[in-house]
Amino acid sequence: MSKSIQAVRGMNDILPDNTAAWLKLESTLVKLMLRYGYQQIRLPIVEKTELFKRAVGEVTDIVEKEMYTFDDRNGDSLSLRPEGTAGCVRAAIENGLLYNQMQRLWYNGPMFRHERPQKGRYRQFHQLGVEAYGMAGPDIDAELIMLSARLWQELGIEGLELQINSLGSSEERQHYRQQLLQYWRDHQDVLDEDGLRRMESNPLRILDSKNPEMQTLIERAPQLVDALGDESRQHFEQFKAALDSVGIDYVVNPRLVRGLDYYNATVFEWVTDQLGAQGTVCAGGRYDGLVAQLGGRETTAVGFAIGLERLLEMIKINTKDEEASQVDACLVMVGDAVQAKGLALAEQLRSELPVLRIQSLCGGGSFKSQMKRADKSGARVALILGDDEVEASTVSVKFLREDKPQEQLAQSAVAQLLSDTIGDHV
Ligand code: ATP
Ligand code: MG
Repeated sequence: MSKSIQAVRGMNDILPDNTAAWLKLESTLVKLMLRYGYQQIRLPIVEKTELFKRAVGEVTDIVEKEMYTFDDRNGDSLSLRPEGTAGCVRAAIENGLLYNQMQRLWYNGPMFRHERPQKGRYRQFHQLGVEAYGMAGPDIDAELIMLSARLWQELGIEGLELQINSLGSSEERQHYRQQLLQYWRDHQDVLDEDGLRRMESNPLRILDSKNPEMQTLIERAPQLVDALGDESRQHFEQFKAALDSVGIDYVVNPRLVRGLDYYNATVFEWVTDQLGAQGTVCAGGRYDGLVAQLGGRETTAVGFAIGLERLLEMIKINTKDEEASQVDACLVMVGDAVQAKGLALAEQLRSELPVLRIQSLCGGGSFKSQMKRADKSGARVALILGDDEVEASTVSVKFLREDKPQEQLAQSAVAQLLSDTIGDHV
């Protein structure tokens, strides 16, 4: 036997045991998006590398060290998408979705980053991205927060803290940048290697550093909030007032600058201490400059992304979802002669009871082994079909989870029995 091939490190299979939780989460997301009037957009997984360089920024962790970049057969440099916003903006410009229009869009899919794999951090992971275009005011920023808060509520998640900040306009940030640059220059001896390298090219990014030895320095750095002008201040105040109006709690975190280059004004993260070091479940903000930066007309924009693996972990911690069974009824077929009749009976029941989950125990085996399989499946009922039953057009019904006697009844009466006993459970 040849050696088996393993998956790429950090790129995980989502196995049948877990897909039920994914499907449930995804169906909750889809319904929520519909309720808020957001439309789905489906985007390619591969884009030109240039797109991410321009959108995410050259001096970012993502572009500097995390992207899966390769030359295709024509020699074009392509990358697996590390995030969804760049592709979404590209598609919106390219397809004329932004011209004099407002858009509320969402997508869900795999993203790729070459990071050190650990709990809550993978090389292939999934994001739900939500983006709104053409709305300049703080109302839409607040709507996005309300939408995410409702999602936590529907998923039964508690213990997420909303952190917010304002990055102001690009002019205000420019001014602040100078101030901060001077501060880093004055304290160069405390900066780590990344800090020194970024000091000149992107001094704000240093505020985002997770290096514990730099935390005191970062805490004492000048704050962006103090550099905001009237308009930015007002946007931020109105945003907070909207959150207050629906009772959403938040903490203003002046050090929240986000890891990507394209943000301005409102930025936010939903964080938890329940997931260890990988505590950010949802992150986003306003990025009014990006559309023009990618060649479109000036268009205001705001959005966020949720890491679905981290969200699922939160659901697991917060809810005691009992293992849901995969099927309601199993059809036991004893003897080769009854198989065609059995399959037909199962089809008939599927037609009559569209909510019923019924599994025919194909593959044969003894009565005993089939009953074992039925029990393991979690089904409540085993429908047994042998030569005698076929002869008499009946089925034997055995309740697998209740202390009830086995009964034999006409095949035509099975649908009614199933709908009476398990109809309300499905
Ligand atoms: P972090 O600080 O954890 O690296 P980030 O700022 O790089 O996060 P974003 O680019 O804002 O993350 O992505 C939004 C969300 O996607 C994150 O809040 C997180 O939930 C999730 N996410 C990001 N990178 C990963 C990863 N490698 N594995 C799993 N989830 C991730
Ligand atoms: Mg990261």
